[in-house]
Amino acid sequence: MVVAIFIIGLSLGSFVNALVWRLHEKKDWIKARSQCVNCHHELAAIDLIPIISWIILRGRCRYCQKPISIQYPIVELITAVLFLLSYIYWPVALNGWHIAVFIFWLAALTGLIALAVYDLRWMLLPTRLIYVLMVFGLIMAIINIVGSTNRLGVSLGYLEGALIGGGIFYIIFQISKGKWIGGGDVRLGFLLGLLASTALRSFLLIFIASIIGTIVSIVLMSVSKLKRTSLIPFGPFLIISIVIVQLAGADIIKLYTRVLLGN
Ligand SMILES: [Zn+2]
Repeated sequence: MVVAIFIIGLSLGSFVNALVWRLHEKKDWIKARSQCVNCHHELAAIDLIPIISWIILRGRCRYCQKPISIQYPIVELITAVLFLLSYIYWPVALNGWHIAVFIFWLAALTGLIALAVYDLRWMLLPTRLIYVLMVFGLIMAIINIVGSTNRLGVSLGYLEGALIGGGIFYIIFQISKGKWIGGGDVRLGFLLGLLASTALRSFLLIFIASIIGTIVSIVLMSVSKLKRTSLIPFGPFLIISIVIVQLAGADIIKLYTRVLLGN
């Protein structure tokens, strides 16, 4: 099973690379044929094996010899590793309707990785993709609500999570008149707040993302790649954070209350 999950992750990582490019080129998400971004030669199956093709071709296009970005194998590997971690650290036993939630999580995760890559490259979060992921998030919420014994409580949790996730960014967006964060971050906040599934986890999401963002900014500033005024996309930090919240949120909250309240 572990090997199967890893291979599925590699394939979907390959899909992420294609999706990011197709979103940017405004091509059909699924149907468009894969082609070299430089010479536009259509790629054969042998050129499309995750990681392996890149290594065999020594990072160059078979047809035009132009280098292929290292982004491709890295994204494939990251996706596979996150799929594997999701499987190993999934917070509940994978049986019954939990399997359906898990599958939609993997689908959402694939889209989130595409959003992160897109944001890193172009400082934009494609709205259409966020809306598709909101549908995945809603389906996960509905399955969890229906499967729960406390349907009202779980529903309210999702509502609060989404309102806090989106609300905080909406306020920052309004105060800064769109200078500090973009409208895409507000939509992403709603989406991730929904995935966070409770108010507390939504706060945790933003808290962890801020810590990661601060650390990365300090590191980048100290190696002087970044000026104090440079903009860095916040989306990727939020996306890393939601993975942590999804897989370890319950443990973090438990630890926090134990340390703080001594129980
Ligand atoms: Zn080429």
